Amino acid sequence: MIDFSLTNDQKNLQGRARRFAQEYMIPYAYYYDRTGEFPHPIIQKCWDEGLMNLGIPKKYGGPGLGILDQCIVVEELAAGCAGMTTSIYVNSLGAEPIIIAGNEEQKEKYLRLLTEDLRFVSFACSEPYMGSDVAGIRTRVRKEGGHYVINGSKFWITNAPYADYFTVFASLDPSQRHKALCAFIVDADSEGLRTGLPVEKMGHRASTTSSVIFKDVRVPTDNLLGNEGDGFAIAMRTFSMTRPAIAAFATGLARTAMEVARSYVSKREAFTQKLQEFQAIQFKLAEMYIKIEASRVLYMRAAWAADNGEDATVPASVAKAYATDAAMWVTSEALQIHGGYGYIDQYPIEKMFRDAKLYQIYEGTSEIQRLILGRHVLSKYQPALDKIKRWKSMSPPDF
Ligand SMILES: Cc1cc2nc3c(=O)[nH]c(=O)nc-3n(C[C@H](O)[C@H](O)[C@H](O)COP(=O)(O)OP(=O)(O)OC[C@H]3O[C@@H](n4cnc5c(N)ncnc54)[C@H](O)[C@@H]3O)c2cc1C
Repeated sequence: MIDFSLTNDQKNLQGRARRFAQEYMIPYAYYYDRTGEFPHPIIQKCWDEGLMNLGIPKKYGGPGLGILDQCIVVEELAAGCAGMTTSIYVNSLGAEPIIIAGNEEQKEKYLRLLTEDLRFVSFACSEPYMGSDVAGIRTRVRKEGGHYVINGSKFWITNAPYADYFTVFASLDPSQRHKALCAFIVDADSEGLRTGLPVEKMGHRASTTSSVIFKDVRVPTDNLLGNEGDGFAIAMRTFSMTRPAIAAFATGLARTAMEVARSYVSKREAFTQKLQEFQAIQFKLAEMYIKIEASRVLYMRAAWAADNGEDATVPASVAKAYATDAAMWVTSEALQIHGGYGYIDQYPIEKMFRDAKLYQIYEGTSEIQRLILGRHVLSKYQPALDKIKRWKSMSPPDF
């Protein structure tokens, strides 16, 4: 059975998130984009409104929402401001390895922290010399008595300077690649851990990104997630849960880009007509609409798989690859429709164009999604038809 209708609870959630974006995000998006400040008051408000940490089970004080519900919320938030939404959503990314692989004590301690008060967790996987190739992590970990000791550095870590703790991926032996990866929960105030200065970015400027340096950081063995060697699988399972949301981010951003283009063409005139009278412009709007609708269906499909216990890796990659490319295309065309005004900050489309680019990069680039999908088509994919035989037969049917 297929049903694309939202439940009343989902409609309420969507309405709350949409109101939040309109009231608390859009009016301040320009300020945070220009200054690059961390939008702490907005995030606090989002936490107060119960629109953050949505996947944390009720048992640990969270709302225990599924991936689809989370996607519905982030589409609305990203429609308000992509950068703020990244700052807000990173808690879900950081907490997911604990939801997936944490034991009862770890969940009780670290998930509950996020629901008691506004606190931050960052996901620390990427490094200065490694991003796409997760098995190539160089941050080292060794066991020493009742502790693990971590040395190395992470880069591009969202919210790192504000994090209360990190989920960290490190290797017992980099030559063993994915087999040696481990995942840990590391408190931000651990001795030997420091974060670098925020990097200046072209977009998502309302999110803070920095390095995290580990110098002989001692982590209790109790903070290992799963077993030694489980790190790679935990990272991949995390992405299959969070990539549908990145597709939903992209859908929300693209939607607002289309809406500002729609508004602009209803006012701007050229050749004595409103822009909206030109069929070439209408076709651009139509193409935007097609891509946004398709993006939404694809993230719903991926979220449905995740919520129903299926391996969501493939539909999540389909959704992320499609929706993020679509958002880049939509924002580019929406900017083009604004002519020169699209290129300056008088209209919000210039910011959206810059923001869209990141979706094709973080949580696995567009190329990595295609790598996953290419491998899928060549391995697990089951052809629907039997091998095609007698293709060039020249005899007519004999039945
Ligand atoms: C603003 C921002 C926030 C981020 N937040 C976080 C975070 O919170 N936590 C975290 O862990 N990481 C984070 N990242 C890191 C992000 O996930 C990586 O940048 C991304 O995975 C790409 O890795 P890379 O930059 O090292 O590029 P590389 O892996 O060096 O790739 C460079 C290029 O080569 C392509 N490429 C690589 N391998 C292949 C291949 N096999 N086939 C074809 N093409 C290939 C890539 O697609 C890309 O185009 C963030 C990044 C940014 C920019």
